[in-house]
Amino acid sequence: MSASTSPTALPTFADVQAASERLQGVAHRTPVLRSTTLNKLTGAEFFFKCENLQRMGAFKFRGGYNALAQFSAEQAKNGALAFSSGNHAQAIALSARILGMPAVIVMPQDAPAAKLVATRGYGAEVVTFDRFTEDREAISTRIAQERGMTLVPPYNHPDVIAGQGTAALELLQDVPDLDYLFTPLGGGGLLSGTLLSAKAMAPGCKVYGVEPEAGNDAQQSLRKGEIVKIATPKTLADGAQTQALGELTFAIIRRDVTDILTASDAQLVETMRFYAERMKMVVEPTGALSLAAARHGGLDLKGKRVGILISGGNVDLASYGQLLAS
Ligand SMILES: *Cc1c(COP(=O)(O)O)cnc(C)c1O
Repeated sequence: MSASTSPTALPTFADVQAASERLQGVAHRTPVLRSTTLNKLTGAEFFFKCENLQRMGAFKFRGGYNALAQFSAEQAKNGALAFSSGNHAQAIALSARILGMPAVIVMPQDAPAAKLVATRGYGAEVVTFDRFTEDREAISTRIAQERGMTLVPPYNHPDVIAGQGTAALELLQDVPDLDYLFTPLGGGGLLSGTLLSAKAMAPGCKVYGVEPEAGNDAQQSLRKGEIVKIATPKTLADGAQTQALGELTFAIIRRDVTDILTASDAQLVETMRFYAERMKMVVEPTGALSLAAARHGGLDLKGKRVGILISGGNVDLASYGQLLAS
């Protein structure tokens, strides 16, 4: 069974560096792009770390692979299990295929067909369940026990956090003197990993997490000093529809973050349109959170060097087209 649910020591920057070694030649070193248009418009200098161009279309490959690559021989033989209908599912499926181990992904029956197909396409076995009558955690626990598989959670795991931190590590290697860094925020794996890298590599850099306005549980948690759980928020940002931070991610975020901002769905659509029109890039709604808040979050960025982490680019083309045209 999984060791993933037991409390663990917080990962450190050394863990991010080790993850970076592991990902060498496996993950893409994604480009850091610039936009003269945006720089002119804002008087700031923007640097975009493009994880929408990562393998499987999102940074989640980094954390998934870093976790699976450290399985024991016994764990690797029985394989990895995840419950997710989003990018984490594809990250685990692809990582398992690369490492030659079995993977089971537990998904709701009514998950978008494209996601089921993509996950199966990476060679994973997909087990579906009825969201209205069955409990996915119970199903996952049963499969983990029956088959000896190791459950890999999407964010609250030290190896996942360390892997996610490698995107910011690369960005800060390429652009060491950032004044600001904005990153999307769901369960906090990406933000906490980013914070480990930023605190070590650019201690003066202000790091902001950005979550959807409708689901500001992390902002509430930071203000309150304890993890606040909310109902599943209704937002276009489906990668950040989490109800609560994890214990590990909250501990790091609370210790190191500058602040948490939010962005509205309308701002996300406007930002996706900017990426498409000006930078010729497909960015998913969750991936647009960081720039949306950098532009509309009320901070004065004039004359500053600003890092923007674009977290992913996986969209359903039909709804993407509709959103941008509307
Ligand atoms: C998962 C995900 C996020 C949120 O990451 P957390 O580690 O859960 O905070 C942001 N953007 C995309 C594209 C994602 O898939």
